[in-house]
Amino acid sequence: MPCQNLNLIPLYVAIGVSVMLAGVSLWKKVLTVPATAVAVVVLIAVSLFTGYAGLVAFSVSFLGAGIIGLIKKDLRREREKGLYTHVGARGVVQVLVNSLPALIFGLIYFLSGCVAFLYASCVAVTAGFSDSAASDIGILSKGKVISIVTFKQAPRGISGGVSLLGTVAGVVASLIVAVCAFLTPEVEVDGIWIIAVGGVIGMLVDSILGATLQRGYKCTVCGAFTERLNHCDAPTEQVKGLKFIDNNAVNFLSQLIAGAISLLFFI
Ligand SMILES: [Zn+2]
Repeated sequence: MPCQNLNLIPLYVAIGVSVMLAGVSLWKKVLTVPATAVAVVVLIAVSLFTGYAGLVAFSVSFLGAGIIGLIKKDLRREREKGLYTHVGARGVVQVLVNSLPALIFGLIYFLSGCVAFLYASCVAVTAGFSDSAASDIGILSKGKVISIVTFKQAPRGISGGVSLLGTVAGVVASLIVAVCAFLTPEVEVDGIWIIAVGGVIGMLVDSILGATLQRGYKCTVCGAFTERLNHCDAPTEQVKGLKFIDNNAVNFLSQLIAGAISLLFFI
């Protein structure tokens, strides 16, 4: 697809939607107060860069993640508590890692008018939602979890572990964002598969990086795998990954990589 002219979104639409989502975020405690403020700025910026496409992709992802968060909330909390360093409302860092790749691609589209970057921006957002849907639904799975790298059975909730339920949820999440983005004037019919496939690729890249590069620890008391530095009131020991690559870094990288891969569809 060739480069095309930009569609500028009316600022009041971006502000209106951002403020509404911020209200939902604060009401349902999806994000902390500072993270909500950052999310508003991000949403307005991405709308200015990419028009309705980015606004819709972000809004659908945000609302979708919020709705998924309500499903079996207590069971998820229980299962996440021992595994992850961060449970509950998401902070500024999490908002930034989940929006910077989309903002970077969006800014390049804004400056160059090259439509491939508009799609890359949508793909980055979709990849983030797809991955969070896969994690948040997958952790509720009763089925088998296998490592995406070794294909051997893995503990539930571990980075790089994939379940059928989680994977299906991630694919459905990507499709929903892709179809909603298609309803905007910026996205053409080919955009449906570009965004959906790009989102799923992002989810897979996230799992692969999660299985390989992401740091992981083992509890020295109970032997459980965890991302936490402490477990059973004792310090854990690192058993995999690189020290400086945590879940946030993996999310950021996988969204960036998914967007970059989607650019190849335009060559
Ligand atoms: Zn333990």
